[in-house]
Amino acid sequence: MGKGLVPLAALLLSLSSLTAQNYCGSPAGRSAWLKKYQSHPEAFEKGTDTTMYVPLTIHLLGSDDGAGFFKLYRVFDAFCSLNRDYEQAGIQFYIQGDIDYISNTAWNDHEEIETGAEMMFANNVENTLNVYFVANPAGNCGYNLPYGGIALNKSCSNPDDHTWAHEVGHALSLPHPFLGWEGGVSYDNSVAYDYADPAPEYVTYDYTLFKSVFYPDTLIIDTAFVEKLDGSNCHIASDGFCDTPPDYLYNRWNCDINSLSSTLQTDPNGANFRSDGTLIMGYANDVCQGRFTPEQIAAMRAYLVNEKPEWINDQTPPDSLTMSGAVPVYPTGDELVNYQDIELTWNAVPGAVSYLVMLSTSTTFQDATLQEFVSTDTTLLIDELLINRRYYWRVKPFTRYQFCEPTSGTAVFRSAQVTGANRVAGIEEWRLYPNPAGESSNIRLSATLLKNMPISYRIHDAAGKLVGTGRAELYAGHQDISLNMPELPKGVYWIQWTDGVHWMADKVVI
Ligand SMILES: [Zn+2]
Repeated sequence: MGKGLVPLAALLLSLSSLTAQNYCGSPAGRSAWLKKYQSHPEAFEKGTDTTMYVPLTIHLLGSDDGAGFFKLYRVFDAFCSLNRDYEQAGIQFYIQGDIDYISNTAWNDHEEIETGAEMMFANNVENTLNVYFVANPAGNCGYNLPYGGIALNKSCSNPDDHTWAHEVGHALSLPHPFLGWEGGVSYDNSVAYDYADPAPEYVTYDYTLFKSVFYPDTLIIDTAFVEKLDGSNCHIASDGFCDTPPDYLYNRWNCDINSLSSTLQTDPNGANFRSDGTLIMGYANDVCQGRFTPEQIAAMRAYLVNEKPEWINDQTPPDSLTMSGAVPVYPTGDELVNYQDIELTWNAVPGAVSYLVMLSTSTTFQDATLQEFVSTDTTLLIDELLINRRYYWRVKPFTRYQFCEPTSGTAVFRSAQVTGANRVAGIEEWRLYPNPAGESSNIRLSATLLKNMPISYRIHDAAGKLVGTGRAELYAGHQDISLNMPELPKGVYWIQWTDGVHWMADKVVI
């Protein structure tokens, strides 16, 4: 294997060619461990048949002024896809600790992988696999640094994408099935390549930044044997796995109905083949991808057991694997609620540890209008919202292990200034009494008005359910009327009444 060392200037020159958007920035070579493993895989422990649980630390990057963070619901959707991709491997991931929000424009939008490495060195949490969601991971959809962690482009982390699974594959020792072709037949794309020509016996690739330790100022070029269709060199060529067929496609490509590439390639012996688009470690488009091979799975499991025991030291299975969806309880029915101190309530979901509450003025919950809250209880108190808006909200239960639970249906309410009497023209004073009322039939409204006023009123129980409505005619001067309430059980109720413009509200105990 040839290895050349060149000065920093040459390195920076080569990195500048990465500025176009690549799928993956990780020309991860076969590590020393992987070569050793592949020489006698049967000798390595791979864990038992049970699922292995691996802790992740999630870092969300935003700009210096705190904008642009990846939304939690998007993290959870992507996490759900990650775990789905790894079910076949008996490996599942969970979030350890709190989500780490980092406001740093230079890290969020970094042109060079060295900047990403600096971000990781400054923020990594030990004994976990660290994952960073950024706006620009050096022009890639993602990359993995063996000594640092994973950087993912937010825009390549949609529910149907496999970028996260792909980069985790690198973190668990897997190279690309086209190892050596990164950057073309020559590592710097300097040689135009025609796939109709028989491939060379070996290709060169630059993995300077992807060694197991950080080499900031030396260019490291390695060679890889080109895998042949007849399987004769599959143990030593390319990724070293014999059940990943030959593949020389280092740019993203679309697959045909049989999940194969349209590009016909020619191996060093002159044999033609098409690439397998189903491999998550390849570069086929996301819609094609979906599997790891048995040899890849065995290697990832062996890597965890033998090289990353600190990642699998807590194998406590998750408490609950069956959850149902949450249902918003209040406010839900286009209710008018005061714009301050709004208390959202939803039903408890057995097994849920926390709830993600999404609140938006947009029916589609567009990110720009979306506010997210996490509650460990079934209520959320919001300090203040805009006045006279319609708000939509929904709830998603989750645990540290489970992010695939369905989000609730959408509930809607309206925010308004539901004011005290002294702020409303025409109302001198008002009160509901007695309080406690003892019986719902005892509740009376006392009001002194400056003008005649038709009103309507309604009553909600503590869970937000509407339990009564009514209308009355009030007149200028003082009056004291009985509110026509249904018989109600003991409890706390909200009574709201309106003159058609303003809303008044008070709590009454029955
Ligand atoms: Zn990759």
